[in-house]
Amino acid sequence: MEFRPFSVRLTTRFRGLTERSGVLIRGVGPDGADAWGEFSPFADYGPEQRGRWWAAAMEAAHGLLPAPLQSDVECAAIIPELDPVPAAALASAYGCRTAKVKVGGPRGRDPDPAATLRADCARVEAVAAALGSGGHIRVDVNGAWPLSAAVASIAALESAARAGGIDGIEYVEQPCASIGDLAALRRRVDVRIAADESIRLTGDVDAVVRAEAADILVLKPSPLGGARAVVEMVERYGLPVVVSSAMESSVGLATALAAALALSEQPFAHGLGTGTLLATDTVAHTLAPVAGRLAPIPLRVTA
Ligand SMILES: [Mg+2]
Repeated sequence: MEFRPFSVRLTTRFRGLTERSGVLIRGVGPDGADAWGEFSPFADYGPEQRGRWWAAAMEAAHGLLPAPLQSDVECAAIIPELDPVPAAALASAYGCRTAKVKVGGPRGRDPDPAATLRADCARVEAVAAALGSGGHIRVDVNGAWPLSAAVASIAALESAARAGGIDGIEYVEQPCASIGDLAALRRRVDVRIAADESIRLTGDVDAVVRAEAADILVLKPSPLGGARAVVEMVERYGLPVVVSSAMESSVGLATALAAALALSEQPFAHGLGTGTLLATDTVAHTLAPVAGRLAPIPLRVTA
């Protein structure tokens, strides 16, 4: 095996980062051809999460990604916490029918939640207007809302989407941090609730499903131990799944895409549009959606 450290730049700040780094691993697949995996856990990930990411990298570097059932999948644009004008421009440039808009303010304690919600509403309205009436908007809160604020925040974002010409929010991803709060909120609102961090940080889908805390599972192959692990989770739980990337370079993105391709068609667009946010990459041609769909391409590694 060969290990190649890499660092890639992002076009815009994401999760507080402007750069992603990690290691590419070149191995040999069962057919004797080169196979590549990516190990790029976030700095705040602990040993367990790093271990799962390593397993995902090894699966890909041994050429053991699951066989596809589909040739391409629909995927969503991802809109970081930008001002309305650049947010709308990015949504238009993506060419996807669905956009996931980041909301909820800075990670940790938000100094001014009311100002954050106003900015979130302006961003959602602008993106809705850019997508047009056939579009779908989902929001990702990254667990930032206290349960006490979540119902009103959802109502405000739904009106913002309507003001932009889209009727409602497709789903709200990880509105609150704890599984208990997700479950309590889900009983109080009509909008669908999706779980991301509640699954990703522990690898424990059971706890989310048992608590009836989510209508949709967001499953990220890199931090969850690989594409096959995700396919097994989907088979076990039977809830709609949005397979998502974790701001990897295109090599890691290919692992996430392999998981989505190995599933039957899902009701919601997958969250695999992060390639568009890469200013530099580990391959010659970045794996990014074209006209809202993502299909595999040969990985010509340049890192
Ligand atoms: Mg998320």
